[in-house]
Amino acid sequence: SFTAQVVPQAPEDPLFGLMAAYRADNAPNKVDLGIGAYRDNNAKPWVLPVVKKADEILRNDPELNHEYAPIAGIPAFTGKAAELILGGADSPAIKEKRVTSIQTISGTGAVHLGALFLAKFFPGTKKVYLSNPTWANHNQIFSNVGIPIAQYPYFDKKTRGLDFEGMKQALLNAEDKSIILLHACAHNPTGVDPTFDQWKEIAQIMRQKSHFPFFDTAYQGFATGDLMKDNAAVRYFVEQGFELLVAQSFAKNFGLYGERAGCFHVVTGPASDAQETIKRIASQLAILQRSEISNPPLYGARIASTVLNDKALFAEWEENLRTMSGRIIDMRKALRGKLEELGTPGTWNHITDQIGMFSFTGLSEKQVLKVREDAHVYMTKNGRISMAGLNTNNVEYVAKAFDKVVR
Ligand code: PMP
Repeated sequence: SFTAQVVPQAPEDPLFGLMAAYRADNAPNKVDLGIGAYRDNNAKPWVLPVVKKADEILRNDPELNHEYAPIAGIPAFTGKAAELILGGADSPAIKEKRVTSIQTISGTGAVHLGALFLAKFFPGTKKVYLSNPTWANHNQIFSNVGIPIAQYPYFDKKTRGLDFEGMKQALLNAEDKSIILLHACAHNPTGVDPTFDQWKEIAQIMRQKSHFPFFDTAYQGFATGDLMKDNAAVRYFVEQGFELLVAQSFAKNFGLYGERAGCFHVVTGPASDAQETIKRIASQLAILQRSEISNPPLYGARIASTVLNDKALFAEWEENLRTMSGRIIDMRKALRGKLEELGTPGTWNHITDQIGMFSFTGLSEKQVLKVREDAHVYMTKNGRISMAGLNTNNVEYVAKAFDKVVR
């Protein structure tokens, strides 16, 4: 029977522990830089205006019901989701019908379905290389389906930028035909992305080694504010004829966190039997989906689909994306500016060089704990801050708190 010996206590999720500690803190000037969700300048959650409009449209639709979605999800949603990440209907993969897309439980569900599919069918080396560091959940998701994990160097502690040489060397040293998980943009947790020229080199090595790319995209439009800039790496790999997987989340770029809107895409290479292959892959994905969730949830996908399929709403969404990414970029400039103004020891250009929701500040664990104790500023132990937690009311306070622990 189940006993305490049979089922050991699982470690607490570090992020949830941090959130609980923040909630329990009564200091009026406390600052939450842990959360991985967008906040407005008043530190409040932001429902995108375009999402409110889409919600209104759905509410007033007399035809709407609560029947099951198809197993693969709402086609109007998954089709547009593919166009979004692949760069439009002109993508060679879409034109040549080499893509299959299936709606998932947000990005997590997409990574999981991809991992499950690889565990069952991947013909290469069943080992996945994750960036060091990466989104912590990647480790559990691949372990759960029995795919062994290796790491490639990613973050250079000295420059607080990309360890490009280390990354390339690891890809070269990996067994041929390995699975390489890549963050399409706005790398979590470091905020460090390869430049486009570096992506080209990565692609070239992956071609040489016959590695298999699995892109995780959770921040398209959220990084630069430009949807077509944030999908440049994925588009490049597709142009180069790679077979690849994409796990796509709409949590951050639509602010639909709890609605779990996501999509998983398989793109095959331009081989002569590509269409037959993609049809078979779609059939297998449907079986996996059926055994896991039967049918994906409707609401978030309906909201996203309403926006993605309407020109005016789409343009408004792009405006909303620029609002979010713009505020974050402004906060990067403000934090760096204040630190430099204070003459805080060290260099702070990495704050503005990094991109997306997160920044790896370079603060040590000791400094992180001290800044929490002294100034009630909460961030993860690895020194990651959520830029969205900063605003014009607290950025100077945070800079001063950092300044104090760094000295
Ligand atoms: N991948 C990465 C790299 C992420 O940062 C996130 C969000 N934290 C996800 C996937 C998926 O999140 P969700 O399941 O909420 O879409």
